[in-house]
Amino acid sequence: MALQRSAILSWYDENARVLPWRVAPAARRAGARPDPYRVWLSEIMLQQTTVPHATPYFRAFTEAWPTVQALAAADGTEVLGAWAGLGYYARARNLIACARHVARELGGRFPNMEAELLKLPGVGPYTAAAIAAIAFDAPANVVDGNVERVMARLFAVETPLPQAKPQLKTLAAGFVSTERPGDWAQALMDLGATVCTPASPACGRCPARPHCRAHKAGSPERYPLKSPKAERPRRYGAAYVLTRGPLVALVRRPPRGLLGGMLALPTSDWRGRPWSDAELHAAAPACAPWRPAGEVEHVFTHFALTLRVARAEGDWAGALWRPRSDLEAMPSVFLKAARLALTA
Ligand code: SF4
Repeated sequence: MALQRSAILSWYDENARVLPWRVAPAARRAGARPDPYRVWLSEIMLQQTTVPHATPYFRAFTEAWPTVQALAAADGTEVLGAWAGLGYYARARNLIACARHVARELGGRFPNMEAELLKLPGVGPYTAAAIAAIAFDAPANVVDGNVERVMARLFAVETPLPQAKPQLKTLAAGFVSTERPGDWAQALMDLGATVCTPASPACGRCPARPHCRAHKAGSPERYPLKSPKAERPRRYGAAYVLTRGPLVALVRRPPRGLLGGMLALPTSDWRGRPWSDAELHAAAPACAPWRPAGEVEHVFTHFALTLRVARAEGDWAGALWRPRSDLEAMPSVFLKAARLALTA
């Protein structure tokens, strides 16, 4: 393991991705330390999306709110608006709660121990380990999907996911050491993201190849094995795009629940069977000459949604009337529906 570890760290020294929240290995050796606020923010964003997708959001957030104190003092609605497109808004609400807790209760300092980090809103075991390792160089076992894949391949683990998770975590723990723990965590992440990729691992340029059992077996992409997936349930709903001249009727969703607190199009309920034309008209927020504009598909974590979209020109007392430029602040499912209706 020591040989593999040192080969992977040397590879990281040469090939570390340049990321706006990262302190490069050479700078770290020279004594630079990452800003825990930036590490925390990046990890929360990356819980759900890829580095290329998260990067512009990270830059926008750190420009608008360069410190945890600034984020804590920000208007919550503005932060939720800036989060639109990163999905899963419970995370954005936890982000605000966490920033306020750190700024007001902890004097603006993130804790440096995994157990203390775990107490923060929105910080689960993976994120706590990642912040402890990356921001504070603590020997934490940081295991995400990338690391699970690398471990499954290095050791040719025949147990399928998700049952293999504890075993993969134990294997990863075998590499954790007090020597460069922050770099180690990031080296494994980078290896999984850029070399040991899911579909076509680039074994030819992998520093771990001499010790990799999956490579030796000749079929690395077979790992990690996966149990057959249960189908995501599908729900059906209707979304209404009501315009009054240049303005569009929006609503603010209730603070709790899916997409809570976000600007949105008015919708019907989302249920397990499709909506007929008559039902679509009956559930509309206002009496108007509704005409169908098509359907959009969206996949949430726990279900897939088919949303029928209806469009009309009219008036509605319950609306927040907003210019079209404000539509960008809506979650992407509503933005897709609005674009479909307004360009139809
Ligand atoms: S040798 Fe291939 S399969 Fe093994 S860790 Fe490297 S990239 Fe992944």
